[in-house]
Amino acid sequence: MDVVVVGCGASGIAAIRRLHDAGLKVLGLEAADRIGGRIHSVDFGVGKVDLGAAWCHGEKGNVVYELANPLGLLGRPERENKFFVLSNGDLVPTDTGEEILNAFNEEVGKADKNTTRGIDECVINATYTNPVLKKDHKLTKYFLEWYERNNHLGGKKDPKTGKSLKGLIEFWNSEGDPMLNWKGKGFATILDVLLANPSKAINANILLNKEVESIKWSSQKVDPKNPLVHVKCKDGSLYAAKSVIITVSVGVLKERHTTLFSPPLPSDKINTINNLQFCILGKIYIEFERPWWPEAPANFTLLWRDEDKAKFTEEYQWITEVFGMWSVHHQPNVLLAWTHGEGTEKMEKVSLEGIRAGVEKLLDILRTKFDVAPVKNVIRSQWASNPLARGAYAYRSVAIEENGGSAEILSEPLYHGNDFPIVCFAGEATSHHRHTAVHGAVEAGFREADRLIESFKTLG
Ligand SMILES: Cc1cc2nc3c(=O)[nH]c(=O)nc-3n(C[C@H](O)[C@H](O)[C@H](O)COP(=O)(O)OP(=O)(O)OC[C@H]3O[C@@H](n4cnc5c(N)ncnc54)[C@H](O)[C@@H]3O)c2cc1C
Repeated sequence: MDVVVVGCGASGIAAIRRLHDAGLKVLGLEAADRIGGRIHSVDFGVGKVDLGAAWCHGEKGNVVYELANPLGLLGRPERENKFFVLSNGDLVPTDTGEEILNAFNEEVGKADKNTTRGIDECVINATYTNPVLKKDHKLTKYFLEWYERNNHLGGKKDPKTGKSLKGLIEFWNSEGDPMLNWKGKGFATILDVLLANPSKAINANILLNKEVESIKWSSQKVDPKNPLVHVKCKDGSLYAAKSVIITVSVGVLKERHTTLFSPPLPSDKINTINNLQFCILGKIYIEFERPWWPEAPANFTLLWRDEDKAKFTEEYQWITEVFGMWSVHHQPNVLLAWTHGEGTEKMEKVSLEGIRAGVEKLLDILRTKFDVAPVKNVIRSQWASNPLARGAYAYRSVAIEENGGSAEILSEPLYHGNDFPIVCFAGEATSHHRHTAVHGAVEAGFREADRLIESFKTLG
């Protein structure tokens, strides 16, 4: 075997495709019983919904867009109707809501990015200085909480784990529409695109239910023509290869890097793994008997007042963490409710019956102003409790700005004495400027495949 790829999410599949097309012998080992990882499109409503990645974010410099758009697979969003709903059911006028959110965005936009500060600190400070935000402190507080959740700012328990201002310049937005959809067919379509090539079928090179437990590598000078890495799976199977590409999430690396690698990873990589943060996001899809919102698509921003939060018992506190409900493209009867951070961890622990009951309580808020239709079906994601994911995406934190670490360090391969890359690192978090998203994951998979293709040429 030339290369073993550990993990068959978007990054792993991209790497396998490219290595295979270059004529290298490649094997993908995937712990789950499906490929896709944090891309998981499931049947729901009148088609598919995405429990993980759902939108192709942007066009320019976006490899997912470049692969999918020429095939006509991407749809553009329609204009939304925005509703700012307080937790007692009252509506905040749309222009008031937009004025407050624009004020937050402007403050973040003009903040000095070359600091170690967090975005949260910046927006909290702005509530005392910005004229729009100072107008109505109570209302601003509700919007602040929403802004923190909707932008996944983190750092509530420990400010060092919050998103850093510097991260905003390290991450490169792709120009173009940031919310392209998959026309009701799900993000998993990209996996079909990556795998499709009938003349060079690669599905046989992917093994499911193969949880990798240990990767033994050596930096000693050895004959590069012979296998250098030994990969052991939980089921006892062993694979030897000349190189390995690891694509597991930062959440998984945080939990397992000490047992996964022998010898252990170098200290700069461990420092990066410790300091990078891993965002936790939750989704609840709600199917109704009919659409009941005034004009589709709708976007409900939920603004929680402390007095309303206090009305819920401990069992239902997770509801107060739901910060929004959106229409879903190509799903006329479905709304998507969002949670973030600790709220998601709480939500994931609740039984599906508990989720249904909670959703009804949540909808009671909207029933004060809208004729909400009966709920038909509910599903939710469980990424934080999934040991093969542990969350949604990696981000640069205050801790990384203070203590060092970067996507570049994480992506650096481990070499053996002959300067041959023996353990390579792909996956979303290793993308230098497009981490977070699927296009970063695919880009990183291609990057490491190309690195190995060049290195294998030197073996003759
Ligand atoms: C709720 C949510 C919403 C998101 N929304 C978007 C969005 O709209 N647009 C967007 O672009 N991105 C979005 N993302 C982020 C996007 O899903 C990820 O960036 C991307 O899918 C990561 O791909 P990856 O291949 O790097 O990692 P993964 O998809 O995590 O793949 C790693 C693979 O490794 C496997 N694995 C783990 N441990 C082992 C082991 N020990 N042995 C073998 N295999 C193992 C896993 O099962 C998995 O299949 C979202 C993510 C979530 C969770």
